[in-house]
Parts: sequence; C-alpha cells; structure tokens
Amino acid sequence: MAFEGLAGRLQNVFSKLKGKGKLTEDDVNEALREVRLALLEADVNFKVVKEFVSKVKERAIGQEVLQSFTPAMVVVDIVNKELTELMGGTQSKLARSNRPPTVIMMVGLQGAGKTTTAGKLARMLQQQNHRPLLVAGDIYRPAAIKQLQVLGEQLKVPVFAMGDQVSPVEIAKNALQHAKDNGNDYIIMDTAGRLHIDEALMDELKHIADAIKPDETLLVVDAMTGQEAVNVAESFHKQLALSGVVLTKLDSDTRGGAAISVKAVTGCPIKFAAMGEKMDALEPFHPDRMASRILG
Ligand code: GDP
Repeated sequence: MAFEGLAGRLQNVFSKLKGKGKLTEDDVNEALREVRLALLEADVNFKVVKEFVSKVKERAIGQEVLQSFTPAMVVVDIVNKELTELMGGTQSKLARSNRPPTVIMMVGLQGAGKTTTAGKLARMLQQQNHRPLLVAGDIYRPAAIKQLQVLGEQLKVPVFAMGDQVSPVEIAKNALQHAKDNGNDYIIMDTAGRLHIDEALMDELKHIADAIKPDETLLVVDAMTGQEAVNVAESFHKQLALSGVVLTKLDSDTRGGAAISVKAVTGCPIKFAAMGEKMDALEPFHPDRMASRILG
C-alpha cells in the first residue's frame, strides 16, 4: 500500500513524542528533524520539505502547543493540516463545460498509465450517468488503439477511432463533431506518449489542444517514479498549461514523494489517484484523506 515507509516512520516519531507528556522546544525540534528525514527519504522534493518543516515549526513552537495538556496531539494536528495544505487543501474537481461536450485530454509519458486511466475515467463518468466518448489518439504505439477499443467494449463505452494513418489533430476534430452528433457529454482523448519528453511530442499535443480547446488537460504520471514524476509534471505544465494531474500506481508506491510534492512544486492540483490495474481503481484525490492515510 502507498506510503508504508513514510507512515511507519512518522508514526514512530509521534509515538515517541506522545510518550513524553509536556514538551520542550528541543523535543519539538528533535521530532521535526526526524519528520524532515522521513520526508526526504520518501523522496519529497527538498525545497518542499524545507518549507513544510519551517511552517510546522513556526506553529508548533508557539505557546499553545508547549502549554497544552496533550502537546504531541497538537503537533500531529498541525502536521496533518499542513500536509493537507501542501497537497492542495481541498479536493479539485473535474471541470464540466456548460457547453457540452466537456473535453478531457489525457497526456503523459509512455507507460504512465494514460490509456488505462482514460478507461477508468470513462467508467467513473458513466457511473455518474454521463455519456463519455473515448477517443483513440495514440496512433504511434501499435497496440494503443486496440487497447482502448478493448477497454471500451468491456465498459460499454463507445470508442472513436480513425486508425493510425490520420493525424491526431484530425481525429480530435472529428471526435468532437461525433460527440456533438451523438449526445456524448464528455470526450476523453487518449494521446501518444514517448519514453522521454521531446519537442515533437509537445508540438503534437499543443496542436491537438489548439484544435479542440480542452476543458481539462490531465497529465498522467507514475507515482513510483517519485521526483521524476514531479519533474515531468513541471515540464508538461510549462508547455501545456495542465489543469490537473492523475497519479497512477499509488498501490505500488511505498514512498509517496510524488503525491506530496506535485502540487507544491508545479501549482497544479492532483485530481485523481489510481491504485491498481482494474477499471474501478480510480479515486478522486482528497488531500485531507491522503494526509490522514500518511499519518496513520
Ligand atoms: P500508457 O502508455 O500511458 O497508455 O500506459 P498504460 O495505460 O498502457 O499502462 C501501462 C501499464 O501500467 C499497464 O500494464 C497498466 O495495467 C499499468 N497501470 C496503469 N495504472 C495503474 C495503477 O494505478 N496501478 C498499477 N499497479 N498498474 C497500473
């Protein structure tokens, strides 16, 4: 499960603190030193860690904590609130256009989980009584179109495809018209990924975005890659003005650094978390619940 390492370490720090009763400033400083190490070990961005610890310290050294009858609980509460803030504070919801269809463009590097997440998102929308249309825009990876069609069949969600000889921009435009003609209120466009960010990929994504003006540009990143996921998010955000991030493979990410750093580093909220390969393994990202999960 996600955050095992970090959760365990933080719980240790806080249980030591709770065992102390009244706390001195040194006790708090010592605990925060350990929190800092735990976060760094969880691969949280070092600048984020530094700011986080100094914010918590500022609040935790106050009279309110040191004079409280349960000072350790107050410290945990402060850490919980600051962690929630760090991950975006409140839940960031999926956009909804008042002129349907709402256009969602999925972007990301190859293997991040874009196609799978497109399917999961379609399923989620379908369960909310929407009529999503999946669009096969990854014309370079040989199996991508088929993969989306198989998912569509499994979910009973229509898939718009034009093969691999038509440009993704054309596919996107045609899909938009198709959705209007068929009463689909959401379009989820799968796009090509590469192993690394390159100009050709970014140009293509920009052209698609220019053609269909997405309401959501969701970057799918693999949480297991830690700080690399954050770097990828930063690069994509600079070029494409992302509206949100989907973190995948949280089920296998024992560290949690990406989840904690992405919003703070890029300013872009995490909208969904994927926790498995199955189609129902997608959840809206709730910073407060995630913080509680980390703090145990
Ligand atoms: P794409 O190249 O970005 O379209 O990536 P895919 O959607 O094809 O996913 C790549 C691999 O990651 C597949 O084997 C998926 O089953 C797997 N995958 C996607 N999301 C998750 C997740 O949340 N958890 C786990 N464990 N595997 C995932």
